[in-house]
Amino acid sequence: MIRGAMEPWLVRIRNEQLATFDRINQPMAEWLRAVDGLYLFGTIGMEAVLRADGAVWVSRADRWPESDEHTWRPATDLERYGALVIASRRHAELAQLLPPQPPDAPACARCTGSGFLFGDDQTGVLCPDCGGLGWVVQAAT
Ligand SMILES: [Zn+2]
Repeated sequence: MIRGAMEPWLVRIRNEQLATFDRINQPMAEWLRAVDGLYLFGTIGMEAVLRADGAVWVSRADRWPESDEHTWRPATDLERYGALVIASRRHAELAQLLPPQPPDAPACARCTGSGFLFGDDQTGVLCPDCGGLGWVVQAAT
């Protein structure tokens, strides 16, 4: 499952984050150690973690508003991009985990390349077509 050693920057970010949570939120620190993950972001109805094997997992209220029960599962591709785009604001190194944009990839039609709708990258919501990348990843053929 684990594809070799974690990047040194990822080890550093994770250690810094665990040290912070050890001070301010011990249950969170223990949970992150248990799932072997870096906390990427949390918002109402969704949290995302980057695990040591490079997989992004999300905890989502998938059946809201019928239920506020959260499902813990691997992220879809778009959820993965979105979580990494948001988390890379705080830890720029995480952008390395996003797919490289091919030179001929057109800007996403829905968000015209910004990656966000109804505002900018601070106030808007992630574009559901490109996941915040600003261009649409084509499935491998
Ligand atoms: Zn878009």
